[in-house]
Amino acid sequence: MRVSRCFLPVLKESPSDAQIVSHKLMLRAGLVRQTASGIYAWLPIGFRVLKKIEQIVREEQDRAGAQEMLMPTIQSADLWRESGRYDAYGPEMLRIRDRHDREMLYGPTNEEMLTAIFRDEAKSYRDLPRTLYHIQWKFRDEVRPRFGVMRGREFLMKDAYSFDLDEAGARLSYYTQLLAYLRTFQRMGIKAVPMRAANGPIGGDLSHEFIVLAPTGESEVFYDSAFEDMDWNREGLSYGDEAGLRELFEEVTTTYAATDETHDEGRWVDVPDVRKRTGRGIEVGHIFYFGDLYSVKMGLKVSGKDGIPVVPHMGSYGIGVSRLVGAIIEASHDEAGIVWPESVAPWTVGLVTMRGDDEPTVTAAEQLYRQLEAAGVETLYDDRDERGGVKLGSMDLIGLPWQLIVGPRGIANNMVELKNRRTGEKQELSVESALARLTS
Ligand code: ATP
Ligand code: MG
Repeated sequence: MRVSRCFLPVLKESPSDAQIVSHKLMLRAGLVRQTASGIYAWLPIGFRVLKKIEQIVREEQDRAGAQEMLMPTIQSADLWRESGRYDAYGPEMLRIRDRHDREMLYGPTNEEMLTAIFRDEAKSYRDLPRTLYHIQWKFRDEVRPRFGVMRGREFLMKDAYSFDLDEAGARLSYYTQLLAYLRTFQRMGIKAVPMRAANGPIGGDLSHEFIVLAPTGESEVFYDSAFEDMDWNREGLSYGDEAGLRELFEEVTTTYAATDETHDEGRWVDVPDVRKRTGRGIEVGHIFYFGDLYSVKMGLKVSGKDGIPVVPHMGSYGIGVSRLVGAIIEASHDEAGIVWPESVAPWTVGLVTMRGDDEPTVTAAEQLYRQLEAAGVETLYDDRDERGGVKLGSMDLIGLPWQLIVGPRGIANNMVELKNRRTGEKQELSVESALARLTS
């Protein structure tokens, strides 16, 4: 993409209406704009990141055997009366009336809708187990929308729902999602620690929140640093292996991690001091096992092997896709701007000409741009006739993993500069070796 053709409104000044660094950077680098309190438009660069995050979530859900579908944002109030949550949900639910005066709502979550869909179709034990998910916008009329997309009113969530014949099966579905979540966040280059959580109004007795450490987080957390070194893609860990999944769950629950709600001083003292980590954290995901709560309330049952009706056990599993854009920036930035992990970066390479009026520089940059694009390397090419320093400043702010800098002095000797955004390390390379490095 050429910057001269981009809608990329970069702000020089730090916006005064933003309180936390990720929100400031998202406004400054032109990722989002607020259109109403807690409601945001995603500008092209922010949208690219959102899509990358969404795609990682999707691929890991698919790999874990969940099936994607899409449910609507608008729901009928009657559905929620069946579960008893219509009144219980309170003012966070945005209630709407259609022209026939029917009560509708903008969905804050989809337990009711999917339970009803599944109830109407699933007949026998052969229809279970199943895990279904969708990635859809939600609306919660938060009392205090703040921190930009981190606590919006309209936000993008991946929510999955599992249906199993019994508790043992449902627990396996839970462990499967647990592993999928660990892998999802690892791929995004962030350390999201699974912490035992209270189930709250959704009911049930098994729940974990996935929390990313950041000073501006809303909850206080305590965890064993052993979590930081765990590799969830290690050999021997696979979805089909039930014993392995149970071991994973053991490992996760015996390694200490808790929020202020679930913190246990008695267990915390046993964590060696050098491994104690405390701080604040942002919730990026939340998984629940809640048994037959919704099945009973909404009349979901199937016929069992022996003909006797079985009431399925359920779990639900959420990831804050739009919140993650902010959370990743909270966890990965410096004074100059955002530092994107490669897997979610809007582009991989930022190509910059130091002089837009120097013919050999422009010719070399144009050719590099064509070659990078041809090799499938996502490149943002700053081809504007602007001062080099200004362009480099914007590139640092936008935070692409690599900057490829072409200037008159270097190019006279066939040399360019390759800068690693995270380390700041710069290397003088020939045009060919820079290209080889980026396309390998
Ligand atoms: P929180 O405690 O932060 O209010 P929650 O527990 O109400 O979140 P869940 O119902 O567990 O949220 O939703 C699943 C995920 O959706 C959360 O882990 C979070 O990442 C995301 N999420 C929830 N509320 C918001 C919001 N207002 N804005 C952006 N993302 C949100
Ligand atoms: Mg939650």
